[in-house]
Amino acid sequence: MLLIHCPYCEEERPELEFRQSGEAHLKRPEGSATLSDREAAELLYFRTNSRGLVFERWRHIHGCGRFFNAVRHAVTDKFVKTYKAGLPKPEIDADGRLAAAGSNAPTFDANVEPDVMGDAAHTPVARTEAQQ
Ligand SMILES: [Zn+2]
Repeated sequence: MLLIHCPYCEEERPELEFRQSGEAHLKRPEGSATLSDREAAELLYFRTNSRGLVFERWRHIHGCGRFFNAVRHAVTDKFVKTYKAGLPKPEIDADGRLAAAGSNAPTFDANVEPDVMGDAAHTPVARTEAQQ
């Protein structure tokens, strides 16, 4: 079971207590009332959906009920850091590490498959035409 650290409760709790609430650190541009339809659609619906570290809003819906932010690896689903809402976005250096986390922080390279994906049990098997 995936455990998520709530920065308000200061506890690791099961993922079933949480709800993902979209991308974190989104800013509404100045003059958003004058945006074109396309610009408004991009603001509302287009997300980065990047591979590697992502910044997300989460809510401890079956706990304290508060919103917080998390840094999660989109491929491994590993939570690297959670922090209270309103705190600044952590910096990621060129090596894919959280800059403030120090040298012991895990490194993520978006161009390298994580070990779990290289495991034979998790490697997708190409289907032949006869199997489809
Ligand atoms: Zn909580």
